[in-house]
Amino acid sequence: MSESTCLFCRILSGEIPSTKVYEDRLAYAFNDIDPQAPNHILIIPKEHIDSLNDVSQGDESLLGHLLRLAPKVANQIGFAESGFRTVINTGGDGGQSVEHLHLHLLGGRSLTWPPG
Ligand code: 5GP
Ligand code: ZN
Repeated sequence: MSESTCLFCRILSGEIPSTKVYEDRLAYAFNDIDPQAPNHILIIPKEHIDSLNDVSQGDESLLGHLLRLAPKVANQIGFAESGFRTVINTGGDGGQSVEHLHLHLLGGRSLTWPPG
């Protein structure tokens, strides 16, 4: 996936509009266009990485950063205490539809388990 055609890279560049909920040097978080819960946020690295299958040892601190942003963003919006779910879909069987690594942050309702 080239960065010029990647949907989330185009969101990062501002070419495609999005509703920002958080941003720092390494990451950007925005509302999912098709929310599966009252709060459904996507947390993405600013650097293009296709998927979890493509991370290397050098990405460990970035991955930790993305994960740590989940409670931070949930707390900022106000659903950290009631609980939330983080999901990273990977590849075809994982249900990944956008090939730019992203972490789903879902909250605001009681979520069921197991997933489909
Ligand atoms: P995946 O299925 O790859 O795990 O997640 C991709 C997510 O991106 C989906 O939840 C989908 O609703 C969301 N999405 C797809 N296109 C857009 C878009 O143009 N804008 C936003 N904000 N979200 C999108
Ligand atoms: Zn990308």
